Amino acid sequence: MIPKFDWLHLPRSEIIKTLLLPSAIVFVSFFVVTLWAYAGASNYLRDTINSTSNRRIEVSRSAIQRQFATYEEILRGGVGLFKSSSNVDRDEWKMFVDNFAVENRYPGIDGIGYSKFLGASEKDTFVNEMRRDGAPGFRIYPTEQRDTYTTIVYLEPMNERNARALGYDMFTEKNRRAAMEYARDSGDLGVTETVTLVQEGEGSEEPGFLIYMPLYKNGMPTNTVEQRRRAIDGFIYMPLRAADIVEHMLPSDAQTEVGVQIFTDPTQADESFLYENGLFSQLANKESYSAQAEITLHNTIWHINYRFSHNIVPLAVRQRPASTILWGGMVSIFTALIVYRLLLNRSQKLAAANEKALQLAKDDLLSLASHQLRTPATGVKQYIGMVLEGYAGDLNDDQKRFLSKAYSSNERQLRIINDLLFVAKADEGRIVISKSPTNISVLVKETVNEQTASAKDKRHKLVAKVPRKAIWLDVDAHSLRMALENLLTNAIKYTKEGGKITVTAAENEKEVTISVEDSGIGIKREDMHMLFKQFSRIPNELSAETGGSGIGLYLAQHLVQLHRGTINVKSKAGQGSTFTIRLPKANGRRKSYLPQSPIKKKKI
Ligand code: ADP
Repeated sequence: MIPKFDWLHLPRSEIIKTLLLPSAIVFVSFFVVTLWAYAGASNYLRDTINSTSNRRIEVSRSAIQRQFATYEEILRGGVGLFKSSSNVDRDEWKMFVDNFAVENRYPGIDGIGYSKFLGASEKDTFVNEMRRDGAPGFRIYPTEQRDTYTTIVYLEPMNERNARALGYDMFTEKNRRAAMEYARDSGDLGVTETVTLVQEGEGSEEPGFLIYMPLYKNGMPTNTVEQRRRAIDGFIYMPLRAADIVEHMLPSDAQTEVGVQIFTDPTQADESFLYENGLFSQLANKESYSAQAEITLHNTIWHINYRFSHNIVPLAVRQRPASTILWGGMVSIFTALIVYRLLLNRSQKLAAANEKALQLAKDDLLSLASHQLRTPATGVKQYIGMVLEGYAGDLNDDQKRFLSKAYSSNERQLRIINDLLFVAKADEGRIVISKSPTNISVLVKETVNEQTASAKDKRHKLVAKVPRKAIWLDVDAHSLRMALENLLTNAIKYTKEGGKITVTAAENEKEVTISVEDSGIGIKREDMHMLFKQFSRIPNELSAETGGSGIGLYLAQHLVQLHRGTINVKSKAGQGSTFTIRLPKANGRRKSYLPQSPIKKKKI
């Protein structure tokens, strides 16, 4: 909890300067360091995400490239078979493909085939040959007339799906044609963009791609593009189902941590969509990191979108920025609070020490001044008294008038000096009271009567409310009268002309109360702490004109405390005040009391 500093009574600006500002500086300094650490932790997280995802991307990239190299080797094997044999028949091709056991070892490869290039003039002869050689229903499709034809001649393993593809002219479809032309012209492997495979039946169309290796006629030069175009005999090729192939290519973490989506042309998302694993869409709604990569596969580029599960980064690294800000914020607040607490302690000690030193200095000055003043002032009183009584001869009226004024001024002066001496005595604990049974009702009435004249001067209505029955209490009548007098003169002083002052005496089983209620200017809440202190005056609209030394309430309280009583006050600015003396009814009779904790001082 934030400790209270109210009692220091420091001005707001001082509290800001000595307590709040240093604490705020400490907080801000610590928080700036926290922000700096937060930025560091965030950078580290970003770097870790980047490096981890780049590593994963590299792993999948090289897995895909390795797989393509394997396919290339298989196709080159097919090319080798045709080169080494003058005529590769259906059985030989079947044996060659069976050797690879593609269905078991290469899931996703739909088959390995041979497609032949034919000029328009060669077409019919070739179709007849095929029909003769064990494929009676063979035809080249689409059937429209054109200058050149290609036709799938062999495609193993032979099954219903692949049988559907025999005779298909792949050159008639633009994506296949582009890959075949690239393979023919470059002598390199040609890869299609996304296609729908012809062997797929209606309704089961899934994206795939084909790869082609050119087969040139034996003995013809293949050094230039022109020579290669003339020498082309056909292609050894593979149709590949993307889903199976890519799943096979990706490292095992793709199942749990890496979502992948592949297009061959991102501007044609629908048409060129090749593959997406299940995790890719699952990760869309979860905390994940995304990245893009491109892999060049001969003439084609695969555009890959990655979504990495946040698990690729260790939990501690992921949480570091948030926990840095949390812990740093807490440390900043606690440190600022500790600094605040220490400064507050220091201020409290300083204030207490200052107050004590000031009090001692005041006391010294007070006792010195009052002693030095009393003797000469008393002398003045005596001599003026003697002159007024005619010891120095007769006086005319003016002389009498001036001397009377001097006499009453001197009396006021002596009263103040006596008050000062009384304070000095009170501080030293030298005031001793002597109690005797007193009728409090009478004491109150008499004290009120004495003040009637001054109340009248200010046109106040002064009322004493006392019960008919006598209130007997053991008190030092002189001291109690002094205390009540102080409260009453204050009520008269601090009430504007024409006010009302009511003095009430009452008793119950435990105590006797005397309260002085006025309709005066009241006391502000924030000034209350200044009451009952020595020489403490609260500046207000009446205090300048009334004059005073700020010791009335201090003395009143001191005298009441000697009776083991209390004085409390209820007041609101502008709405009057009520000062109440409470005197406990004593059980036994005691002659004299000492104050509870007198301030120890050297003798005057
Ligand atoms: P003094 O009257 O000489 O200033 P006191 O110790 O009697 O000294 O009073 C201290 C201050 O308390 C006064 O200056 C005055 O502002 C305030 N005070 C005391 N009594 C009243 C009252 N009845 N109504 C309003 N203010 C009061």
